[in-house]
Amino acid sequence: MASCTYCGCDVTAHDPVYVEATADGERVPAGQFCNYGCLAAHIEEEGLTQGAVCRLD
Ligand SMILES: [Zn+2]
Repeated sequence: MASCTYCGCDVTAHDPVYVEATADGERVPAGQFCNYGCLAAHIEEEGLTQGAVCRLD
């Protein structure tokens, strides 16, 4: 079972979204989520957007 990084549910029972990051130029799994809702909640809870803006208008 692939459990959601945010809520722990089985992501395959939903509409899963997978996140990857890079380490030494290689793509590595950084999380799996039931859907964009869980991904958005995880980002919000962990404050992952703080200081991570790539473009300021
Ligand atoms: Zn979830």
